[in-house]
Amino acid sequence: MFIDGTWVDTDDAYTIADPATGEIVETSAKATVDHVDAAVAAARRAFVDGAWRRTAPVARAAVFDRAAEALGARMDEISSIICRETGMAIRTAGALGVGFPMMHLSYFADLTRAYEFTRAAPINGQVLHGGYIRKEPLGVCAGITPWNFPASTAVWKSIPALATGNSVVLKVDEKTPSFALELAALLKDAGLPDGVFNVVVGDGPTIGEHLVRHDDVALISFTGSTTTGRRVMANAAERVKRVLLELGGKSPNIVLDDADLDAAVDGTVYGFVLHAGQACESGSRLLLPASIHDEFVDRLIARLDTIRIGDPQDPATDMGALMSAEQLARVRRYIDIGLAEGATLAYGGGAPEGERFARGYWMRPTVFTNVSNQMRIAQEEIFGPVLSVIRYETVDEAIAIANDSDYGLAAGVWSTDNQRAIDVAERLEAGSVWINDWHNMSQHLPFGGYKQSGLGRELGPDALDEFVQDKSITVDLSGDVSRRAYGIVLGTPAHA
Ligand code: NAD
Repeated sequence: MFIDGTWVDTDDAYTIADPATGEIVETSAKATVDHVDAAVAAARRAFVDGAWRRTAPVARAAVFDRAAEALGARMDEISSIICRETGMAIRTAGALGVGFPMMHLSYFADLTRAYEFTRAAPINGQVLHGGYIRKEPLGVCAGITPWNFPASTAVWKSIPALATGNSVVLKVDEKTPSFALELAALLKDAGLPDGVFNVVVGDGPTIGEHLVRHDDVALISFTGSTTTGRRVMANAAERVKRVLLELGGKSPNIVLDDADLDAAVDGTVYGFVLHAGQACESGSRLLLPASIHDEFVDRLIARLDTIRIGDPQDPATDMGALMSAEQLARVRRYIDIGLAEGATLAYGGGAPEGERFARGYWMRPTVFTNVSNQMRIAQEEIFGPVLSVIRYETVDEAIAIANDSDYGLAAGVWSTDNQRAIDVAERLEAGSVWINDWHNMSQHLPFGGYKQSGLGRELGPDALDEFVQDKSITVDLSGDVSRRAYGIVLGTPAHA
């Protein structure tokens, strides 16, 4: 772990398995609540000391730029580590595990340079009364990250908080600690003062919960499941802390009858197969018009036959392993549920054949047809490479089905008629809508959920706003308080 600028190890350790083999490949320190207290105390001390929050924004930005450059120099090594911890195919780990964090570090550096930390504000049109708004940090911000994208989420939780002068304690999932620890080393080497950024490795129910409820934590930025998000929010309410929640999804992918079918099939596969479907914004519900349903499903299945499943470290691999035995059991349970609900298993449903797949946690891309939106496989997040295909008759019906969900993270529309696609996109209840694409996340666009998919936004031009509080400061230049605009004079003023 990384606490107060130093590396901390523990006798008791977590063992970390490679999802592709099930073999133990690493051990990691295991936090106790005392480590959390030490990390929060270090963060608080660093905040009160103020060296970082008083560092000029351009100098803070330079720290992020240096870290981004150093990360880029170690791209191959770090993508391989992410691949080994998560089972993610190496090409995905390179692009999303290192490429995204690099770009996002640089983007946050740009935002830090451009941010208006103070803004002038006129008061009631008075010449001699001035005011300004100061964007102040909150203090110690806690970040809590999931295992599926440990790199991007670590950057999103930490860098905007640091950019605005806060201190951070990041609690990472105990299955995927390495990237956050690398980030700590990169930031230290880049000049971040000790104590400003701390990483603890621990479980959710004890360590995560203790951090969320800690008196000295002012904000919690959490990515994970909706169930845990609710608990984080309830615990944060005890001391009225600010929360940012990026939660689960069941994102609808709507193909219109005039779609370019080749592109839509490609995008559908990309949408639910990337990282074996273990992405919060996976396109896990496919809505097809009855007129092209059968042809589309045939093409989809032919396309899935081309997906190469295998060793995540092999650059030829398209899809790696599921994260853990628990995750595999969860996906299998949902396949049983789908069958019991009367859906048709049109593709996949088990591990690929072969000796290689006898160990580790494997599942082929799986497609259910004849799904109704009321089924659990259409309403609940499976978090695996499982697609539920729902047939619709009219576009209005497709929109109603798409919006009939507790979730609202992402959605997609496929059409060759841009205006038609835009009309649909604007009626969808989702934080991100991709027209003729999927997973099209850009640092320039806010990311976050409608409904039970979350609260607040990460990335985008306003990302830093989530980590500041406004202070209004006024200055009376008149020297005569009694002449204030309201005209309220109490008793006899000294100036009278
Ligand atoms: P999870 O909710 O079980 O765990 C997420 C993190 O929260 C982990 O670090 C865990 O240790 C911690 N945690 C668990 N209980 C806690 C508690 N009581 N208090 C504080 N922290 C606690 O989720 P997961 O299984 O690790 O991740 C998968 C989920 O994350 C999926 O539902 C997925 O959709 C969601 N996710 C969302 C986004 C997004 O941006 N919306 C991104 C990635 C993943």
